Amino acid sequence: MVVLDRAGFIAALDIAVTQARGAGDDLGLLLIDLSNLRLINHRHGYGIGDLLLAEAGRQLLATSKLPDTVFRIGGHTFAFILPQLNTPAFIALAMNRVQRLLDGALYIDEEILPVQLRIGLAVNLQGRHSPLVTLARAEASLAQVKQGNALEIDAMIGEDDDAREDTAFEQHFSEALYDNAFDLHFQPKVDLRTGRVCSAEALLRWHLPGHGAVSPERVVQLAEASGQTYELTRWVVNRALRAMREWRDTVALPVAVNIPAGLVNSPDLANMLSGALSIWGVEPSMLTLEVTEGAVIEDKEAGFNNLLHLRELGMGLSIDDFGTGYSSLSYFEHIPATEIKIDQSFVRRILGDSRDRALVGIIVDIAHLFDFAVVAEGVEDNQTLQYLRELGCDIVQGYLYSRPLPEDELLAWLQQCDGRPGIAAN
Ligand code: C2E
Ligand code: MG
Ligand code: MG
Repeated sequence: MVVLDRAGFIAALDIAVTQARGAGDDLGLLLIDLSNLRLINHRHGYGIGDLLLAEAGRQLLATSKLPDTVFRIGGHTFAFILPQLNTPAFIALAMNRVQRLLDGALYIDEEILPVQLRIGLAVNLQGRHSPLVTLARAEASLAQVKQGNALEIDAMIGEDDDAREDTAFEQHFSEALYDNAFDLHFQPKVDLRTGRVCSAEALLRWHLPGHGAVSPERVVQLAEASGQTYELTRWVVNRALRAMREWRDTVALPVAVNIPAGLVNSPDLANMLSGALSIWGVEPSMLTLEVTEGAVIEDKEAGFNNLLHLRELGMGLSIDDFGTGYSSLSYFEHIPATEIKIDQSFVRRILGDSRDRALVGIIVDIAHLFDFAVVAEGVEDNQTLQYLRELGCDIVQGYLYSRPLPEDELLAWLQQCDGRPGIAAN
């Protein structure tokens, strides 16, 4: 049995990246996943599964001419470091070779087992990425392959100016995540029935020295590109809960955090959230997760299992940017949501056209039929607010009341208006 050695792998990758950087060499990383090993274990027994792993490990080691390049880093995943790629395109050859080798040779006890391989890869040109980013990129690529998407090798090895800038940004992003350099601002949501602030949405802020503000959408893209959405979200969630914990004696304000689409289906999400809630001692009902409509539709394939689970744990669930996806009305019956947020683009159109107003009215009515609260986001003026009131909207959020504010400013603002904001002059 090939031993699991993540620590050894990370150390070797670190050395390989440092060498590549020093010599100006290109470096490749393959992640090779024996994706049906679990099935093989079940069907043929763990002994056979172990033999298979050992055989795969042996074959990979035999292919590699260099020491410290092949590691088993997961239950059924191997990493293959390819230092000194003569040309970046060589990685495609290496990948094909591994594929052929393992496809052909893994037969055990006269039985040829149908091994299914999934290979993800990352190319690190001249060692410009950190080991962490290199691994994260290879993991992201493997995740793509597992979802049935083709690898875009050309895009990985060709680097124009844009790609170079992306690379630099990804590096900054990883460092910022590591250094805790992000910030959260909070924007109040106001309940129209009571006139009181009923919660706040946490919104990510990143000031990159020498560059300025980077939009949260861009930050999420960078996290996706480098396979770090989970880590970013964990940071956001913990930062928001820490703030709630700090305010607790002054104000018990529920908070909403945004969950990126790529995480909605992840079984790790619920564990991370309940872990964080218990660390900070916050009730699940005080936390709402904002998930975009598009992501919710994707989860539908799994019968909304993940979302249901989160609801069962007691958290609120808000469908963000509602109206921009393509959900059919019948989904309403099954979506385990507590709230829908009408997208800003609809809110903006309310003023212009009576048909758009009617459309928003219909969305509000249907949402109420299914007991969802309705939030309108991006409300900037009194007239829009008036219409929203008439249409039966429950909660509004927008510059009309307040922009997203740093924590201390939010507390001062809440104190000043005693939780019942008048409307800012506009
Ligand atoms: P969103 O969740 O739909 O957030 C609402 C956006 O509208 C925020 O932009 C907010 O500042 C802006 N906004 C609020 N009121 C008004 C208004 O009256 N007028 C106008 N013009 N804009 C208003 P922001 O902060 O730039 O965030 C943009 C998007 O980035 C968010 O859209 C969300 O999808 C994403 N995002 C922000 N923070 C996070 C985060 O922590 N995690 C994740 N995954 N995504 C985030
Ligand atoms: Mg949101
Ligand atoms: Mg939105």
